[in-house]
Amino acid sequence: MIRLNTPFTGYPDLEAKIAYGLARVGAEAVGIERVVVENRGGYYLVQVETEENNLPLLERTFNTLCQRILSSKELIFLTPGVTSRSAGKIRADGSDFFSLEKYKRHDFMFANRKNQNVCRHSGKSLGNVLGFAASTSYHNKRDGVDVALTPRNTRDKTSPKVPRRPTNPRNICKTCGLLALLGTWFSAFMFTMADREVVAVPVARKRTSGKVLRQILACHHLLRKEWIPGRVPEKAIPLVILTRIPSTAYFLRDFDFFISFMSGGGNRGYHVDAIAMVPLENYLGFIDHSPYNVAVVLNLLKRDCYEGLQALNEIIFYRKKDLLGRFGRIYSAKPSNQDSKHGILLYTETAIYLLKEVAMISPEVIENRSLASLARTLRYFVREKKYGYADDIRNARKDSKDFEDTIAKMLREGRLRLEQNEKIHLPNEEEIREVFRLAHNSFEEVKTALTILAFSFPGGTE
Ligand SMILES: [Zn+2]
Repeated sequence: MIRLNTPFTGYPDLEAKIAYGLARVGAEAVGIERVVVENRGGYYLVQVETEENNLPLLERTFNTLCQRILSSKELIFLTPGVTSRSAGKIRADGSDFFSLEKYKRHDFMFANRKNQNVCRHSGKSLGNVLGFAASTSYHNKRDGVDVALTPRNTRDKTSPKVPRRPTNPRNICKTCGLLALLGTWFSAFMFTMADREVVAVPVARKRTSGKVLRQILACHHLLRKEWIPGRVPEKAIPLVILTRIPSTAYFLRDFDFFISFMSGGGNRGYHVDAIAMVPLENYLGFIDHSPYNVAVVLNLLKRDCYEGLQALNEIIFYRKKDLLGRFGRIYSAKPSNQDSKHGILLYTETAIYLLKEVAMISPEVIENRSLASLARTLRYFVREKKYGYADDIRNARKDSKDFEDTIAKMLREGRLRLEQNEKIHLPNEEEIREVFRLAHNSFEEVKTALTILAFSFPGGTE
C-alpha cells in the first residue's frame, strides 16, 4: 500500500485539489477501484493499493499526465484564478521530473517559517496563485493574518498607512501546483456567471472511493457549458448548481462545496469576491426528493425571480420555516408575463415537502380535510392574485383575533361571489369549527399549512 499525504497547507480548497490530483494519478496507474481518498481534518490521505516499491510507477504516470495535460499554457490559462503570466510559469515544460516521494511524509507543523513554500516542500517553486487556493487573497500564512501596514499610495511613501491584503502570494512547490491543477480539472465545477468565474470544489467529509470517487472525477464537466444568469444571488448558487446536475444528488451527500467567486482575470489579475464552504445535505434532500422541486428552481430562474430564489434558498439551507408563506406569495405573484391575471401555484409535491421536512408540521395538520377545504377557498383568491386574505392569515398573531376575523371576512366575500354565480368552493360550518379548534392547539403550524396549501395546486383529495 502506498500512502500519500497532502501537505497540510491550511487552505481547504488547495488540499482537496492536491488530493484529487493524487487520486487521478493513482487511478491512471493502477485503476480507480484501488484508490481511497480520506479527509483527515486539514489534510488528506490518498491510499493507492499497490506494492510499496511501486512509487516510480505513480511518478512516471504523474509526469506523463503533466506532459499530456499541463504542458499547454492555454489550458492552464483557462483555469479561473490563473493569469496568463503565471500560466507560463506553471506549465510543465518537460525539463523537470517531479518526484512524489515528499507526499509519503507527514511531519506537520502549524506555522510557516519565513520564505518557506506554503506546502513546506523544497524544490522548484511557483506563486501560490488564486487558481490553487482562492483563500490566499485573504491571508497568506496558515498561522495568522498578515497585518503589516503599507502606504495607501504605494508610490508615495508618506501617504497614510493602511492594512491591505497581500498581493503577492506565498510560494508553493511546483509538484503541488501541478497536482492542484490536475485536481481542479478533474474534480471542480467551473462556470461563468456574468463577469465572474465560479469554482466549486467538492470536499469530501469522510472517505471517498470506488463508484463515488469515479463520479467525482468524471462529473465536473457537466456544468462547464452551463450559463448561469448573473443576477442569481451568491448565496443561492449551490442550489442553482445542484439543480443543473440533479444526478449528482446521490453521490455528493457526504460532501461540502468550497465555492470561490473570482472576477477580473486576463492580464490584470484576479480578485476573490467571496469564498464559502457550503454543506450540501439540505440541498440534496430537497433536490433528490422530487423532480418537481428541481422544476420549482428552474421556474424561478426562468422567470428571473431572484427574490424567490433567495427565499427558497434560506428555507432549504437554514430551515427558515417562517419564510414559507412569503415564498409562496413571491412564487405566485411573479409570473414571466406580468400582465397575467392568474397567480402561479407551487407543485403539490414541493408544498408537502416544505411543510413536512422544513416546517416539520405533522401529517394530521397537513392532511386534515377541513384545512384542505378552507385552503381551497383561499386558493380561489390567490389565483385571482387577490393576496390580502393570504397575507393577513400569514401575519396573524396568536394572541389576536386576526386569524378568525380574516377567515370570516373571506367567507363573507366567498358567499357573495357564490350568489353572483362564481364557481367558488366554501367550507361548511363544521369544517371551519375544526380549523379553529386545530389553530387553537397549534397556531403557527395551521397558519403555515393553510397558506402554503392555498399557494399550491390542489392535492389528490380535492
Ligand atoms: Zn509542495
